Amino acid sequence: MHCPFCAAVDTKVIDSRLVGDGSQVRRRRQCLECHERFTTFEMAELVMPRVIKSDDIREPFDEEKLRRGMQKALEKRPVSSDDVEVAISYIKSQLRATGEREIPSKMIGNVVMDELKKLDKVAYIRFASVYRSFEDIREFGEEIAKLQD
Ligand SMILES: [Zn+2]
Repeated sequence: MHCPFCAAVDTKVIDSRLVGDGSQVRRRRQCLECHERFTTFEMAELVMPRVIKSDDIREPFDEEKLRRGMQKALEKRPVSSDDVEVAISYIKSQLRATGEREIPSKMIGNVVMDELKKLDKVAYIRFASVYRSFEDIREFGEEIAKLQD
């Protein structure tokens, strides 16, 4: 990051340590131009974007709802809970990585479908058929055909 004193572009980290319960990193930096020192704190951005529903209503991101939806699709499928949790973490980090404050629920559905496709094809089809409400049977058949390639 830029030096807050002289705005030089190059600063170097001279010390780095975990603080608190380890959820933050404290870094001492020094400017390569003016040699001033300053401290930065780095922590994970855990705020999830809000969800824009199809009727334009906004609601908070609901991880439990996501988990229930995925578990329902994965019912009686050979996928471990650990794998589901890893997928949920990945979905959340992808949504956060957009940097958006609000995300359409449709886009979240697409991210979830991509993850389910990797976990289990049957679960993917189950989820997709409910979530995307396929326009007609033909479209649904095309999705299945794509999976068989
Ligand atoms: Zn400087």
